[in-house]
Amino acid sequence: MRESLSATAVVVLLVSCTSGGAPRSPADSTASFTDGEASLITRAGPDEPMEIVANDSEAGDAFLRGNGLPVDPSDPLLALLEARMRATLLEAKGVGIAAPQVGIGRRVILVQRKDMEPEQPVLLYLNPRIVEMSDGKLIDWEGCLSIPAGFGRVYRAASIVVEHVSAEGEAVSEFVSGYTARIFQHEIDHLDGVLFIDVKEPGKLMPEDEYRQMKALEKEQEGQG
Ligand SMILES: [Zn+2]
Repeated sequence: MRESLSATAVVVLLVSCTSGGAPRSPADSTASFTDGEASLITRAGPDEPMEIVANDSEAGDAFLRGNGLPVDPSDPLLALLEARMRATLLEAKGVGIAAPQVGIGRRVILVQRKDMEPEQPVLLYLNPRIVEMSDGKLIDWEGCLSIPAGFGRVYRAASIVVEHVSAEGEAVSEFVSGYTARIFQHEIDHLDGVLFIDVKEPGKLMPEDEYRQMKALEKEQEGQG
């Protein structure tokens, strides 16, 4: 996910939504990478970014619409996938990325923990799913590394409970709120073939240059205020 540079979020209350689609159980996490996935992961070293799959081609869009399969937390290739996803995220200056965005249809995401001050580390989550969502929602801008066309505003639950599997294969659940909860929702949607353009406010996307100008102006005005 690409960062919304300043939060001008509006709080509203909408109907209750308590589950994130049709989640898989973390206990399903036994699958190993296919030969094709392994060859994509091992094609370059840990510091090398992977190619981002974008929705501006038919094949790219079709791939992004697929469901991510559970990953085996003990798979030895996970460390290299994680490193290369990190390199990809760093290069793209994003705040989150999901494995399908680099051509790996697996339930693996990286999320920048904006809520963990001051380091705001980028952490890996295996087979994540949202098991609870707050009734309260926030609207804010989102962009996506896989959607070059621009930015849009999306309502997301203000807080969530995420369940995921540790490297040791144990189920872990965590309460997350604020902007970090937004990043989790955006990335976990990718694992179910959902893009932010499917859930954003109706209307056209704002092109990147226009978006950057708007955000710069907002920042300037905040400085004066
Ligand atoms: Zn995205």
